[in-house]
Amino acid sequence: MSRWKRRFGSREAPWWESGVNFICVPDCGRCCDEPGGIVYLSREDAERIANHLKVSLKQWLAENCRTSFDGRFVLESKPEDGRCIYLTGEKTCSIYEVKPAQCSAFPFWRENLVSGRSWEKTKALCPGIDHADAIEIHGDSIKLNLEADRIAEKGFRFI
Ligand code: SF4
Ligand code: SF4
Repeated sequence: MSRWKRRFGSREAPWWESGVNFICVPDCGRCCDEPGGIVYLSREDAERIANHLKVSLKQWLAENCRTSFDGRFVLESKPEDGRCIYLTGEKTCSIYEVKPAQCSAFPFWRENLVSGRSWEKTKALCPGIDHADAIEIHGDSIKLNLEADRIAEKGFRFI
């Protein structure tokens, strides 16, 4: 069994290996517009964003992050509505060029891909899945996104 299949918990090729249809719809922003959403950060995410904003890693973490129940750094939310601090009033991302890997990997998260049924459910949130303009996303690309999401979710706790 391949390392990948062990990790995904199946001896069979995953249902999505032959590809799925998806396009990120311009000006959508629905996946960011979730009160209480949690974005875990890899160390690389945090360093890249701090560098982009021209502040030290320590300062960026102190001012823009909080910690999860087990001490992993996550993006802070706006106190007034629980949405991501980087979501603008136009539903765009103010750090789009350097956004966290978990954001880039959506909708290709493990919990969304674990079965065809969970993928169907994800469609309720993400209009890009099976959109009329969608293109086929190959299994290899999906694997890369899943791996990026896994690493980000592992997170980091100390600087
Ligand atoms: S919900 Fe889907 S289509 Fe909309 S911004 Fe997020 S990934 Fe793109
Ligand atoms: S960092 Fe950007 S892409 Fe990620 S949740 Fe916030 S607004 Fe959305």
